[in-house]
Amino acid sequence: MLEESNSRIERLRNTGHKLTNARLTVLRALENHDGHMTSTDVLEAVTRMDPEIGRASVFRALDLFTQLSIIRPTYIDSSVTPTYVLMPGGHHHHIICTNCNRVIEFEECKLDQLEAELERKLHVRLTGHLLEFYGLCESCQDRAKSDS
Ligand SMILES: [Zn+2]
Ligand SMILES: [Zn+2]
Ligand SMILES: [Zn+2]
Repeated sequence: MLEESNSRIERLRNTGHKLTNARLTVLRALENHDGHMTSTDVLEAVTRMDPEIGRASVFRALDLFTQLSIIRPTYIDSSVTPTYVLMPGGHHHHIICTNCNRVIEFEECKLDQLEAELERKLHVRLTGHLLEFYGLCESCQDRAKSDS
């Protein structure tokens, strides 16, 4: 966790961004909750930690972190407001149950080869990926079976 936090701060520094109090507090808020927060959640957490930090600074920090692939917005639960997830090591993976909206996290990643291939073929430089699989979780499969 600490190592990840340091690498995020490194990332800000290396890209020439100042480590302002607002940015560090937003980062800390996200890390305290292991990501998975809407902008409203972040705003509330930041205000609790430091009421001096304004709403606009929080939104600007979220935009900057998104741009740097430190976080990405996802649209779990088909809600209108995105949920921000942290991108440790540049990626984040979900399996989302289309029946109960349960989100299953997994770390395993075999996309290195695909990324290298895409970079070569499409002349892009990739900084991360968000992977979402959709399907039925174990209990929803069981329910479907007993219903039929
Ligand atoms: Zn389910
Ligand atoms: Zn997640
Ligand atoms: Zn991955």
